[in-house]
Amino acid sequence: MPSPCDRAVALTFDDGPHPVWTPRVLAALQSCDASATFFVHAAQAERHVRLVEKILHGGHEIGLHCWRHLRHGRHSAAVIEADTNRALEALGGVGVHPCWWRVPWGQLGPSTPRIARTRGLRVIGWDLDTHDWRGDRAVTMLEHVTPGLRPGAIVLMHDGLGPGARRTLCGETVRLLAPLVRALRERGCEPTTVSAALRCCPT
Ligand SMILES: [Zn+2]
Repeated sequence: MPSPCDRAVALTFDDGPHPVWTPRVLAALQSCDASATFFVHAAQAERHVRLVEKILHGGHEIGLHCWRHLRHGRHSAAVIEADTNRALEALGGVGVHPCWWRVPWGQLGPSTPRIARTRGLRVIGWDLDTHDWRGDRAVTMLEHVTPGLRPGAIVLMHDGLGPGARRTLCGETVRLLAPLVRALRERGCEPTTVSAALRCCPT
């Protein structure tokens, strides 16, 4: 029998917390008995502390996204360092000390690995982009990601509206969750956090 780690798929959400969409995503996850990692926009986390608490109380994990949504390759190391420090300070202020970092757009700059290393952060990307940010329908997203569902995969979604979003609502992401979790379990996989998924998957 495969161990739970052999079956884990990480569900991840960027650009939250959002006062409307994060609670709906959390409710959808709870109804599926699924956990996930939320890579938060720290400025929003500071504004919506109760949502941060709600994420944690739901058994989910919080990772770092950013303070400002900067493309690392377009800014100096000093700017990225200052942004990261401010984000970590804000998260520390609400009791969150992340170990995973998904940088904006997943685009690393020359200084990103050093900044991560010196702050105890591990940079993490994704395997499967649902393309929810561009406004795809839930049924389309499910068709797109289902062939790639396998143990160790990392699925990218959004519980907020980042600067690259081509949609004004996150309802299709909420709608995607139950059928996505069903599809995962039909394949013998279990939706979970990045930490749980990677704890026994070599990187
Ligand atoms: Zn983002």
